[in-house]
Amino acid sequence: MQSAFDRDALSSRLRLAERGRMIFGKRKKKDPESEAESLPPSAEVIAAGNHDSDDAVVPAEVALDFIAEMLRTLGENSFSVGPKAVAEIEAFFEGWARHLLVGVRPPREDIDESDAKPSKKNAEEEERTAKRDLPGLRRALREHRKQEVGYVTTSLNDFREASWAFIGSLRRSLTVEQTSDRRLGHRMRRLEGAVRGGEADRIKSEAQETVSLLTEFLNDRGARHQAQIAEMAARLENLRDELDSVRANAAIDAVTKTYNRASFDEQIEREVDLATLFGKRGCLMMIDIDHFKWVNDTHGHPCGDEVLRSVAETLNRCYQRKDDFVARYGGEEFSIVLRDISLPVARDVAERGMDAVRRLEVNFPGVEEPIRVTVSIGIARLRSGETTRSWIERADRALYQAKDGGRDCIEVDPIDLADA
Ligand code: GH3
Ligand code: MG
Ligand code: MG
Repeated sequence: MQSAFDRDALSSRLRLAERGRMIFGKRKKKDPESEAESLPPSAEVIAAGNHDSDDAVVPAEVALDFIAEMLRTLGENSFSVGPKAVAEIEAFFEGWARHLLVGVRPPREDIDESDAKPSKKNAEEEERTAKRDLPGLRRALREHRKQEVGYVTTSLNDFREASWAFIGSLRRSLTVEQTSDRRLGHRMRRLEGAVRGGEADRIKSEAQETVSLLTEFLNDRGARHQAQIAEMAARLENLRDELDSVRANAAIDAVTKTYNRASFDEQIEREVDLATLFGKRGCLMMIDIDHFKWVNDTHGHPCGDEVLRSVAETLNRCYQRKDDFVARYGGEEFSIVLRDISLPVARDVAERGMDAVRRLEVNFPGVEEPIRVTVSIGIARLRSGETTRSWIERADRALYQAKDGGRDCIEVDPIDLADA
């Protein structure tokens, strides 16, 4: 990841601000072996490379630079911790790195927004004072680490509990099945005996007993399986937030700032998994800009890019619900997954997006009139037991029907319409 500022310039500013100050200070001359032990290994390496001074101390700028670099590495490799998104954690580490390098105010979680964003003048003053809050850094790192440990432990416990619940219900299920098999085996042997004996009344009563036992088993089994699925679903509900948080880290398409195709492919698989588990079915919308080639051909590719960006921005603004997932499916085609939604509501939602695009006016340098475009939309609602591929194909087919029907309109897959 590229740094947001010029590191060479910072280093030279730092040298000015920190001239003469040594972070580890001068060490007393001692036996060299015990001295080597008293320094952290990293500092020792730095000290060993310092040939200018007999004292072999670590210059403050080198040490601060080194720690800042470590903080950045931690930031760049961070993961989301509960409600804290990766970007937030990355900003936290970057903030501390900048504090060490240039002395700007360190990031604080306990101050309000107006404090958190000092004016430019204040920031410059702070840079000049260049005080480094090392105890504050230690406290902040300790707190962050505690949050990480808490989060990882809770997540692991959730997974562990879900696994145990699964193993437990499997075991209970097997035990009950074995008992049922034994009872049923006994009952079948009695029926067989009655048939061999040829006594009509006995055959009749044994057959009735067998049928009622079988009915009882089948009913029991159905209810047991339902209960097992409900139990598993309740436990997995906790993990659903985890799955949702993955979307916060999903990759973004550079041109449109919507999720990219790879993110969409992952997300839709998850939607199908969740729908299977929780029985809540979503709708998929495929949206394609009409006559987009004309925009490129008439006004040039950069103008086409601008239109693409504006349409994406409009869709992103329209579909901001936590569960909505707007992605660039390819070229000038977008896909939106709407979780847990009925067909009529999805249709209204699609209508809203289509209207918003109709109202959009894109201005581009050198093009006199604002450019207007329309979109065509295909919708399909996930069917019970359906694969991801079939769901996408049906939404795509509906989109092409909308194109055939004259564009600037919405079509729902006929299979869903027949159901509705
Ligand atoms: P239709 O109404 O049938 O969808 O017609 P269309 O012209 O929109 O569709 P067609 O598939 O013929 O052309 C789509 C064009 O979109 C062709 C392709 O060059 C262009 N395109 C795809 N990706 C980009 C992009 O990132 N930027 C720009 N400017 N153009 C793109
Ligand atoms: Mg098109
Ligand atoms: Mg297209």
